Amino acid sequence: MLDTERLQILTESAKYDVSCSYSGSKRVNTKNGLGNASVGGICHSFTPDGRCISLLKILMSNECIYNCEYCPNRSSADVPRARTTPEEICELVINFYKRNYIEGLFLSSAVFQTPNKTMELLTETVIKLRKVYNFNGYIHLKGIPHADTDLMIKAARYVDRMSYNIELPSESSLKLLAPQKTRDSLITPMKKLYSAQIYDRENKIKKNKVIPAGQTTQMIIGASPESDGQILRLSEALYRKMQLKRVYFSSYIPVVESPILPTKTAGLLREHRLYQADWLIRFYGFDVKEICDENENLSEEFDPKCHWALKNMHLFPVEINTAPLEMLLRVPGIGAKGAYKIIEARRFCKLDFDNLAKMRIVLKRAKHFITCKGKFYGADGYSQIKCCLMLEDKSRNCEQLSLFSTRENAISALSGEL
Ligand code: SF4
Repeated sequence: MLDTERLQILTESAKYDVSCSYSGSKRVNTKNGLGNASVGGICHSFTPDGRCISLLKILMSNECIYNCEYCPNRSSADVPRARTTPEEICELVINFYKRNYIEGLFLSSAVFQTPNKTMELLTETVIKLRKVYNFNGYIHLKGIPHADTDLMIKAARYVDRMSYNIELPSESSLKLLAPQKTRDSLITPMKKLYSAQIYDRENKIKKNKVIPAGQTTQMIIGASPESDGQILRLSEALYRKMQLKRVYFSSYIPVVESPILPTKTAGLLREHRLYQADWLIRFYGFDVKEICDENENLSEEFDPKCHWALKNMHLFPVEINTAPLEMLLRVPGIGAKGAYKIIEARRFCKLDFDNLAKMRIVLKRAKHFITCKGKFYGADGYSQIKCCLMLEDKSRNCEQLSLFSTRENAISALSGEL
């Protein structure tokens, strides 16, 4: 049975991986209270149908033969080490599942002994869970770079999702900060997984389909000098060429001392802007070239959609009753849901500002970029519009401190509407 000390080490060591989200809160139960939260162990993730589920997030081992400069588990780090067995993980998952603590597993590992040995044990764990324990819950498995493809595909047939973390966006940064990993050792397995998914789809394989919930990856932002433009180009290529479900961005946190790493975090604003840009690429029809030049970072001042609109004022205002969907999606303040609602509603009547308000379209920003039945209620000229947007952004940032204080904030946080 896995003892508490090892469980604590192995769940705590898994917390910096955000390719499934981490809950990270610590709260002990009070007298007459119900339940408690611990630092590591259970995190939350979202299923394709939007449900939030709890996952046990754990490493099989934090003993690593690799020495990635930024990682608290690297071989040269002086930290408590622990390892568990496939059987112990299976028992833990089943016990937690039966007690209703979790609905799934996020299983990862440092590379102990050899990449193949690590991958073999991870594979053994997931097969045991499915075949011996008949566990049908969600499993997200981390792939081990340099492990054999056959092993990886074998594991992929028993899990819902797999991820290889790219971590650093260029080969030169990998060489410097994660010298045992190569771009090829991360990208090639991702390509192979995608090919296996296509094979299953084309051959209508139903049983033990390769990763039915797709693959994800994570990049650390700010540990290396790559610009947001480079990071977004890489993300766009991953979405396009391998149909990734999600690229996660993790702002670099200086948890280890190193002369070649920055001493400051990249900050949550940079991470947030990257997620906003990522959303525009995936759901709003933007091309990365429109959002950010290759060697530039995203604007801190405005979100990427506002920034694009201010640079392209010659395309605005657009008439809400005639603008094509592609253009409605580019109006700051009108989210994807709002744009589709407008397209649907204008089949029946010509829309005015009151109609938009009734449809819960937030007009604070949008009014500077649209006309309704030819009427314009925005500010006069580029400088005034910029000024209004800055003020509005400031007040939005203030509101954000009180987390979801308005309905719009809550909807935006949950749906990613921009
Ligand atoms: S492979 Fe690198 S990132 Fe992964 S656990 Fe080992 S040192 Fe850390």
